[in-house]
Amino acid sequence: MITKKGINASPGVAIGPALVLDTEEYRIPRRTIAPAQLAAEIATLDAALDTSRQEVADLRVAAARKLGDKTSAIFAFHEEFIADKGLRNAVVELIEKQRYTAAYAFGQVMNQRQRMFRSVSDPYLKERVRDLFDIEKRVLRHILGRARENIARLTEPVIIVAHDITPSQAIQLDRAHILGFAINVGGQTSHTAIIARMLGIPAVVALNDITSDIAGGETIILDGTHGVVVANPDEQTIERYRSRQREYRAFEAQLAELRDLPAVTEDGTRILLMANIELAAETRMAIDVSADGVGLYRTEFLFLGTDRAPTEEQQYEVFRGAVRHARGKPLTIRTMDLGAEKMAEYLRDYDEGQSQLNHNPVLGLRSVRYCLTHLDLFKTHLRAILRAAVDGDVRIMFPMITTLMELRQARSTLHDAMEDLEEDGIPFAREIPVGIMVETPAAALLAGAFAREAAFLSIGTNDLTQYTLAVDRSNQRVAHLYSPHNPAVLKLIREVIQAGRRAQTPVAMCGEMAGSPIYTELLLGLGLRELSMAPKEIPEIKRVIRRTSLKRCEGIARKVLRFDGDREVINYLRDKLREISPESGI
Ligand code: PEP
Ligand code: MG
Repeated sequence: MITKKGINASPGVAIGPALVLDTEEYRIPRRTIAPAQLAAEIATLDAALDTSRQEVADLRVAAARKLGDKTSAIFAFHEEFIADKGLRNAVVELIEKQRYTAAYAFGQVMNQRQRMFRSVSDPYLKERVRDLFDIEKRVLRHILGRARENIARLTEPVIIVAHDITPSQAIQLDRAHILGFAINVGGQTSHTAIIARMLGIPAVVALNDITSDIAGGETIILDGTHGVVVANPDEQTIERYRSRQREYRAFEAQLAELRDLPAVTEDGTRILLMANIELAAETRMAIDVSADGVGLYRTEFLFLGTDRAPTEEQQYEVFRGAVRHARGKPLTIRTMDLGAEKMAEYLRDYDEGQSQLNHNPVLGLRSVRYCLTHLDLFKTHLRAILRAAVDGDVRIMFPMITTLMELRQARSTLHDAMEDLEEDGIPFAREIPVGIMVETPAAALLAGAFAREAAFLSIGTNDLTQYTLAVDRSNQRVAHLYSPHNPAVLKLIREVIQAGRRAQTPVAMCGEMAGSPIYTELLLGLGLRELSMAPKEIPEIKRVIRRTSLKRCEGIARKVLRFDGDREVINYLRDKLREISPESGI
């Protein structure tokens, strides 16, 4: 029995078999195929080898031009290796004789080759083992891209154990069969953590090398509330966690009883509780748990997990579905926030992907910056939103706005899209509120100016914390430094709320901080009246609101703003939450 501690990323307890994904997160089960499928499997292999060879040939040419012969020689090696008939024939033989899938057979042959390279004494060849890993990943990506032999097709409930889950993979997950996530990397606001909370699946992140500690099929316990994973548990331990699982379910059932009660403080202030969603279909679920609307629809997920950008028509259909599910309640559509880890291969600029330009992706061409340099893509997206908005209470929200110029440019692109629609005679929403996310310290400090130009502001604390404290939100090695309750972040939040109040522009919060009960009283005390969170989190936040008063919250905020250290803040807030909600399990 091994117990490992990580960061609690999504609450709940899961017990079940582990599905360990290799470093590329591809699941390559040892599966056999029917004789009739042989030809198709070999064709898949050939196509993947061919595309991969073409890719590395392109890289070789580009590298020779830009970086010189030494780098291009590496790609020449890749090209030669992939083009080698001996490699292809060895894989085909396994497919034909053993009836293995192309992916499994290719993996087997690559394993043999890696072992061979490692065992020779020539240091040059030994070094090449790393290149073989690269080649394997590239070819497998193409085989699997075609065969869809990935985590989208699970047949039994499993706990996913992986280095990380990229947003592109997350969107393809077979949600019905996933009991939990145990992840090597990340922090509380890394995308895997957010996705897990969105799905209501227990998750533990920042477990370092959990992928090498656990073997596939092994039973594991995952306690997402306390951030613990137990591998190979004995019967007694399983029983103990089963009882915790029952307690957690009872706690959830109790919260469900709040569904039809309003989010009102004891002294009568109504707080709007909105939902964060990633897929249009989640709108219905959000409204079902009595959300007052959608405060953040992360539309970039529409662009992930596919081979090409969805057309205007496809986007329009999806957005229309969301509008329909919102049933007249507000739907805040955030324009695509692509970049950094939320990026699809087909959208990556060649230069950005391959070169030195991409060393700091979160400080690079992401989000609205990406949109403003890819205007055709952006305009198509805006047209689809404007058209779908005809029937509902839709708002547009631009992410990652840092300068006023960006807001003005984004708005002018929106106007261009409107003019084009007008010319084409296509109906669209003419009066649509346009707001921004405040996720950079620059936007927070200039919130007054933004509040005068935008219809609303929504504070994105996940990025705001990252940029204020200079801490990568998905890097587990600095996760201890990442705290939205750091007084520096809190002062920026207060600044935005006050600027909004002065300009009479509504201010909401849609970062993860808004869905964590420990912060609820503080945020109300600072003046927020609208919070947006994963639908699952709404009941607990509602319960805290119903047990407190604005007067108490304001006292808490005053006190917190006097602290200089984040430890003092969190300890104080924990004590305060215990007073009114001892069941919150903090
Ligand atoms: C944020 O940054 O707080 C936010 C809500 O956006 P995302 O988590 O999608 O970056
Ligand atoms: Mg953000």
